[in-house]
Amino acid sequence: TYAVTGATGHLGRLAVEDLLTRGVPAADVIAIVRTPAKAADLAERGVQVREGDYDRPDTLPAALAGVERLLLVSGSEIGRRLPQHEAVITAAKAAGVSRIVYTSLLKADTTSLPIAGEHVGTEALLREAGVPFTVLRNGWYTENYTGQLSRYLGTGAVVGATAAGRISAATRADFAAAAVSALVDGAEATGAVRELGGPAFTLAELAATITEVTGTPVAHQDLSGEQYSATLQQASLDEGTAGFFAAVDAAIAHGDLHTDSDALTRLLGRPATSLSDAVRAAHTTHT
Ligand code: NDP
Repeated sequence: TYAVTGATGHLGRLAVEDLLTRGVPAADVIAIVRTPAKAADLAERGVQVREGDYDRPDTLPAALAGVERLLLVSGSEIGRRLPQHEAVITAAKAAGVSRIVYTSLLKADTTSLPIAGEHVGTEALLREAGVPFTVLRNGWYTENYTGQLSRYLGTGAVVGATAAGRISAATRADFAAAAVSALVDGAEATGAVRELGGPAFTLAELAATITEVTGTPVAHQDLSGEQYSATLQQASLDEGTAGFFAAVDAAIAHGDLHTDSDALTRLLGRPATSLSDAVRAAHTTHT
């Protein structure tokens, strides 16, 4: 049996779909969710939907009962994730789970990204737990950019503060497929830490790709961190959120979201989705 946490989220849903596409019987797929009603469609298709809330450890033993391999999708509540992940890992160990695959962050141990600490802490908990595990240090989602396509097209600009920093982004579908490969592969090494990233691009290359694919001219505008944060606040983001995005771009400028690792391609068994294909798919969806 394979269980996926966060199965009502973007990545978790894609992982569940990927398991089913690979021919794993729905009855052997367990979707662990905090709101079962949001997974009614999966239940209808025969997937076992179980309630499991990271904040309510009492829900976790039943959620994990009989689970052999667990994809622990990192939580989305920044600042609360370490105790949440600890609760899942503790319950998984008690339930006799034989492997945990965890979605961490690219270069978690050296990155300047402010969100890395919880991932480093979770990786340490996995090493201490003694349950065989794989850490997938996921890079940025391509969707962090393609999700803003209509804004780029409307304003004619990709604005950021990344300088010439390169971003090894990959689509959520590719990260999900890679995670499922690591989950189902019997030969996956125990304790492996894999840095996962797709084909690298700069924001200038993103703007050029959007221009080429859509036919609408979009220019790259690079600002200083302070200017970028101020611009985001003018666009109604609060100071903390604007500062977070400026810190992300500073990390990108520093190379923290770039990797030369080919681990994603190897797990996928094919090249990762290209930026132009991802932009084309987003453009088709939005027009
Ligand atoms: P989503 O926000 O779509 O999904 C997060 C999932 O976590 C949701 O299913 C959510 O449940 C679940 N969750 C949150 N809190 C709890 C809880 N207390 N108990 C149980 N489940 C909980 O994120 P994505 O799927 O897009 O990404 C997966 C993870 O990757 C994120 O959670 C985050 O850690 C990380 N991430 C990575 C990014 C990147 O660019 N690489 C960008 C953003 C996040 P519910 O459906 O009920 O809300």
